[in-house]
Amino acid sequence: MSPFARVAQSVEQLTRNEQVSGSNPLSGSNVRSRWRPSRPRPKLRATLGRQRAAPLRSSLWGYGRSVLIVASNASTDRHQTGPGHPERSGRLPAAHDGLIDAGLSDAINTVDVYPAPHAAVARVHDAGYLALAQRRCERGPGHLDADTPIGPGSWDTALMAAGAGLAAAEALRTGNADAAFVLVRPPGHHATFAGGMGFCLINNVAVLARHLCDGGEKVLIVDWDVHHGNGTQDIFWDDPSVLFVSSHQYPHYPGTGRADETGGLNAPGATINLALPAGATGDVILRFLDDVVAPAVEVHQPDWVLVSAGFDAHRADPLADLELSSADFADLATRVAQFAPRPGRVVAFLEGGYDLTAVRASVGATAAALLGERFRPETPTSGGPGADHIIETAMARVRALDQS
Ligand SMILES: [Zn+2]
Repeated sequence: MSPFARVAQSVEQLTRNEQVSGSNPLSGSNVRSRWRPSRPRPKLRATLGRQRAAPLRSSLWGYGRSVLIVASNASTDRHQTGPGHPERSGRLPAAHDGLIDAGLSDAINTVDVYPAPHAAVARVHDAGYLALAQRRCERGPGHLDADTPIGPGSWDTALMAAGAGLAAAEALRTGNADAAFVLVRPPGHHATFAGGMGFCLINNVAVLARHLCDGGEKVLIVDWDVHHGNGTQDIFWDDPSVLFVSSHQYPHYPGTGRADETGGLNAPGATINLALPAGATGDVILRFLDDVVAPAVEVHQPDWVLVSAGFDAHRADPLADLELSSADFADLATRVAQFAPRPGRVVAFLEGGYDLTAVRASVGATAAALLGERFRPETPTSGGPGADHIIETAMARVRALDQS
């Protein structure tokens, strides 16, 4: 047994008989601008189309081909961010092309999406923020924060993005599909209870997680976007029905996501953060999932697995410095899907990802992996720094549960 696994195992054996003291580290965090050029990134070579997913494997359900629910707001996307902004409308066509490259055309069931009801959005966001943001969008163009341009079409597009997650889960619940991919923009995981930030207006994954929890179900959220999912952490900080897991570059935008951010008074240990140094590779995140997250999932027993699937941890991405490849995302998706109690209980949401070639390859690889198929335009990465940070995260979890 590896030292990481030993630590993780000991963590789960701890009893919870005290209240942990701590406050939400998000308040007063040193938030920096996220939209800054990182060092020049190598271009992902266009290997798309040279490899196809293995076709027509047996369904995870045991008959026919596996089915992927796709819920997207691409056809109604009117969120304009202006020239040169990395969070741009071309991201969604690139993501869809990735599904085709992966040979999944026949495996996709595209569902109609609808705007998220106000009540569902208001369960995760402050009512005053929602009214203000809608008004400012409609009066636009302008900015929600320094990084987040908005305009007259932005609010409707954001509501459709959040509604797409609800539609995807409904389709999974009523059908025999194996997984769902919510291909939407704007992304959501930086949007906190009190307000949007960092390209995000409404926290899409949080809207669905809250909806599921309100129905009495438990949720695991895995956020592998290169930026910390501060908004999702904020919303579920004190909620034991959601196990929130984030791996991200640190220090980096938005300035949160340290290992010692482990959850609030009512949810000690329900937040797990892996803060990675620049240059980290896919093998470190896989080990983290195996050695720290898997034992926590064993205890949490989620009914649903939601994924904040950002692809800006790809080595070609212009906004960050991790070194993952599209094959790493396939491996992460395979691991994360195994955390679900049964097929049809995994919903991946597109979050970040700003190199369109990398987004295309990574969406294809991830979607194929969610169906148990294989599409790998690149090879997995390994050998980067960050393994010691897994121990840091495991020890922080020990302390959180020990004090609870
Ligand atoms: Zn990101």
